[in-house]
Amino acid sequence: MKKQVDILGVPVDMVSRSEAIEEIKKLIETPGLSSVFTPNPEMIMLAQEDEEFLSILKNADLVLPDGIGLLIASKIKGLGLTERVTGIDTMNSLLEYCGRESKTIYLLGGKPGVPDLACKNIENRFTGIKIGGFHDGYFTKDEESGIVNEINSINPDILFVCLGAPKQEKWISQYKHLLKCNLAMGVGGSVDIYAGTAKRAPKIFQKLGMEWFYRLAKEPWRYKRMMSLPRFILKILK
Ligand code: UDP
Repeated sequence: MKKQVDILGVPVDMVSRSEAIEEIKKLIETPGLSSVFTPNPEMIMLAQEDEEFLSILKNADLVLPDGIGLLIASKIKGLGLTERVTGIDTMNSLLEYCGRESKTIYLLGGKPGVPDLACKNIENRFTGIKIGGFHDGYFTKDEESGIVNEINSINPDILFVCLGAPKQEKWISQYKHLLKCNLAMGVGGSVDIYAGTAKRAPKIFQKLGMEWFYRLAKEPWRYKRMMSLPRFILKILK
């Protein structure tokens, strides 16, 4: 039985980074499409006002604690989460695994030109990996069935969806029953990191759980979105 903790109505799996990878490997071998999401405080706050999003998170096969805010919430409530399991770290480990096992991935999302660049870099860095295909994330409703058909013709082991939250989670949920692939994971801006069009915070910020601060300094226009972190902590304290 999986152990989960409830964070403002969102069931979060109590797993370490290595346990998360083991779980995902099992999900890849399980018939049917499994979904993996990595909520941070901003997403959990969104889910408070968006029932559809909350229900999608509740029905995911694995929900990983991204964001230092979840660890703080766990400390305050004594829930027992041990470490942050971020989307990008998990994706890195999965890409290594895909390289070792010659698995196929498909990358969906990012501005035109960005997923192509990300795939090129991924192919160079993770020897053995098979890039099944990619598509940018700026498509119309009418183009969606074509994208689903393309993914299905490739039948990838992992579909990484980078459309930002909650769009990526909703997209995966909408097409879950039509998609032929083993695992779909929402990984936000990771496509930009692999493409090199965005930089991850330096290690020291990651260690201190201050990646949000680095991002705020780099992208100050995001401050409104980031206000969800103090609102999240206040809600937990209440
Ligand atoms: N994105 C996309 N289509 C959209 C909206 C966003 O492909 O309609 C991409 C965007 O280009 C970026 C990624 O989604 O590469 C993540 O966006 P954001 O930084 O807002 O998400 P976060 O990393 O905070 O989850």
